[in-house]
Amino acid sequence: MVKLPRSRELPLAGWGNHPVERCAVYRPERLDELATIVTAAPETSLIGRGHGRSYGDAALNCGGAVILHERLNRLLSFDPEAAALRCEAAVSLAEIIDHFLPRGFFLPVTPGTKHISVGGAIAADVHGKNHHRDGTISSQLLDFRLLTAGGDVLTCSRDENSELFWATVGGMGLTGLILDARLRLRRVETAWVHAVTQRAPDLDAALDGILEGDRDYAHAVAWIDCLARRRSLGRSLLFRANPAGLDELSPSARLAPLSISARSWLRVPFGLPRFALNPFNMRVFNTAFYLARRQGHSIENYESYFYPLDAIQQWNRVYGKRGVLQYQVVLPLETSREALVEILERVAASGRASFLAVLKSTGPANAGLLSFPMPGTTLALDFPFTGPDLLEMLHSLDERVLRYGGRVYLAKDCCTRAEHLATMYPNLDRFRDIKSKYDPEQRFCSSLSRRLRITEETA
Ligand SMILES: Cc1cc2nc3c(=O)[nH]c(=O)nc-3n(C[C@H](O)[C@H](O)[C@H](O)COP(=O)(O)OP(=O)(O)OC[C@H]3O[C@@H](n4cnc5c(N)ncnc54)[C@H](O)[C@@H]3O)c2cc1C
Repeated sequence: MVKLPRSRELPLAGWGNHPVERCAVYRPERLDELATIVTAAPETSLIGRGHGRSYGDAALNCGGAVILHERLNRLLSFDPEAAALRCEAAVSLAEIIDHFLPRGFFLPVTPGTKHISVGGAIAADVHGKNHHRDGTISSQLLDFRLLTAGGDVLTCSRDENSELFWATVGGMGLTGLILDARLRLRRVETAWVHAVTQRAPDLDAALDGILEGDRDYAHAVAWIDCLARRRSLGRSLLFRANPAGLDELSPSARLAPLSISARSWLRVPFGLPRFALNPFNMRVFNTAFYLARRQGHSIENYESYFYPLDAIQQWNRVYGKRGVLQYQVVLPLETSREALVEILERVAASGRASFLAVLKSTGPANAGLLSFPMPGTTLALDFPFTGPDLLEMLHSLDERVLRYGGRVYLAKDCCTRAEHLATMYPNLDRFRDIKSKYDPEQRFCSSLSRRLRITEETA
């Protein structure tokens, strides 16, 4: 067995910078070191970590160890016929795009940032703006290799170890460490999309626009002005798009239709003071953004359509040192409208400003036991962390979400209560059974799994 790498104790946080927790951190250089850490590390519990883009405590393990996969990031092989890429788990979506977009391949499913790892994408079963059409990342996932608590490496696919496959997809790292995965990419003619921007004056128009968009557009997302009230409640900008063909590009873009965008060097240098994002500034910003945005058709580069937030590095610092909580829920189709009105009214009445408020439609759920999407609508709101008053409001939103049959997204969460989780995720007991089968000692735990009592550690 290889030597156990040394750990260091470090303060760690997710993308929201809240909570910050001290954890023992391992940063293995080679795959074989992972097995040694799993079987021989003195800490009682472990959790894998990709690029730390989950917002809350999913990749934290207070009192235990966190395994950074970042050095295990090699592209392993590519079969151009099948468009199948095998890569190690810490390869980022950005690296895949940089390498394969110039060769005419793109990710069939991508979240709103490309700076996440393949392992993190599988563990959260991420979705993009095209869930209604293409499902989550797992629909493009052929198989992966998982290092379990016992030190075994199991190949998991729909046909092989399939119960472990569906527990791991969306399982937030609690079934083991994903070593590498095989993903199917999609052929594209250009690196551009044909986008259509439209204003929706209220929530009904926004929802109608999004649902109608599902028929005609591969990608659809709405930005909501969540400070608007009364008749304007839910007023939004709709951004819908289809991949652009070569014949739609300008003559200059046609010269290099698959070129990747230059990396942005804009960066928020430090945590901004709290007054920067006060409700007054945000109201002005929201109104200006809503009114000033040009409506109509445009040909946009993939970067500005799929990853507008990636244009500014460390943009999470605009929320200051206390950090940000992202509250993302999905609501069933039948109750979406009513639930969204209640949620948005509650948020607007609180005077809290959400800088980012995003609405997307979601299609059929898959067999992932803790996978987030269900047919309906998903709403994501960002709130600067202010303390217990914010948590109280989010708990009151959770109660509404439960009443309407929805659930919170674990990849964003840091405050949902354990008693709500089982109702939100009806397959939780099945997940626990499979986890216990492969990890009877509950070796893989995180701060999230402990808070939500997904795992019960023996002392
Ligand atoms: C700006 C922004 C936009 C986003 N937009 C979307 C969106 O549109 N749709 C969406 O679905 N999500 C979205 N997310 C959330 C993000 O995609 C997920 O949280 C994703 O899991 C982050 O991947 P990561 O590599 O940073 O993982 P981390 O944050 O490091 O970890 C996330 C989870 O994955 C587990 N994990 C990581 N690597 C491994 C591994 N090798 N083996 C086993 N488990 C592992 C961790 O234990 C943890 O539970 C967004 C996040 C940000 C910051």
